[in-house]
Amino acid sequence: MKIGFIGLGNMGLPMALNLLQAGHQVTGFDLVKSQLDVFAAAGGSVATNANDTAKDADVLISMLPASRHVEGLYLGDAGLLASANPKTLLIDCSTISPKVAQAVAIAAKAKGFAMIDAPVSGGTAGAQAGTLTFMVGGEESAVECARPLLEKMGKNIFHAGGNGAGQTVKVCNNMMLGIQMLGTSEALRLGIANGMDPKVLSDIMSKSSGRNWALELYNPCPGVMENVPSSKGYAGGFGVDLMLKDLGLAVENAENLDASIPLGKLAQQLYDNHSKAGNGQLDFSSVFNLKNK
Ligand code: NAD
Repeated sequence: MKIGFIGLGNMGLPMALNLLQAGHQVTGFDLVKSQLDVFAAAGGSVATNANDTAKDADVLISMLPASRHVEGLYLGDAGLLASANPKTLLIDCSTISPKVAQAVAIAAKAKGFAMIDAPVSGGTAGAQAGTLTFMVGGEESAVECARPLLEKMGKNIFHAGGNGAGQTVKVCNNMMLGIQMLGTSEALRLGIANGMDPKVLSDIMSKSSGRNWALELYNPCPGVMENVPSSKGYAGGFGVDLMLKDLGLAVENAENLDASIPLGKLAQQLYDNHSKAGNGQLDFSSVFNLKNK
């Protein structure tokens, strides 16, 4: 299959490499030359611009930072919808606003394209290992066409509903994750202030009703767990600023729909304080060190 892949960043590059390894012909494009060099060295073809990436492609995948990049890529006179072949299946894997995902999919449909939103969970490690979870929104037929390809990059492929539904699930999941990390950090700090050993406290809570993913698999207290960002100076992992972006999407989405998310809004404020204190590039579990009295 001929695949065009736009956005070869921390996530897109390892995803595209997995497609190459699966024997597909992949043409990639990114604005950063060093990313293209790594892709070319691994056997990928490199395009000189986004429109050339889509040329002759059976499937086009995008993995860009945010909503505005996705709108810029697909819409407008110079956008892909104006130049690509409508037979190309469009898959946007970026994490963006559900509303924007729907709008781009509607514009795509009007030009005869099938398009799905397929944001991912699993981080850069999951992208490298090909074990991502895909949360997919779109018509059943398009999702089933995409499934064999998504299975080369991920382990769990969920069809969440119509266009935008994949983004909705992603936004809900990451809001819950952000809140859980704050709650877990608070419980650990309180225990430590009482003289508890954080490892003993974590072991007991992991078998009690407070158990959750942040506590059990991504413990934010340094030294409790090996091979997690908290034990490596909060390097790598999922950055504070990326979590902040996703909480921004949750708050914007809730405001559009008049949905009540007081904890989501508070989490946004707390991660924002933490980012402004100079921690934006650290892993989000570094909110363990947030001083907010
Ligand atoms: P990144 O910033 O590393 O990569 C994005 C890439 O897109 C960059 O290399 C950039 O140069 C490129 N780009 C931007 N505009 C472009 C354009 N018009 N044409 C071509 N290339 C363009 O970001 P990432 O970590 O790879 O994340 C990508 C998406 O995946 C984001 O929406 C993010 O929220 C989501 N995500 C990230 C993670 C993670 O752990 N990093 C996990 C799950 C989801």
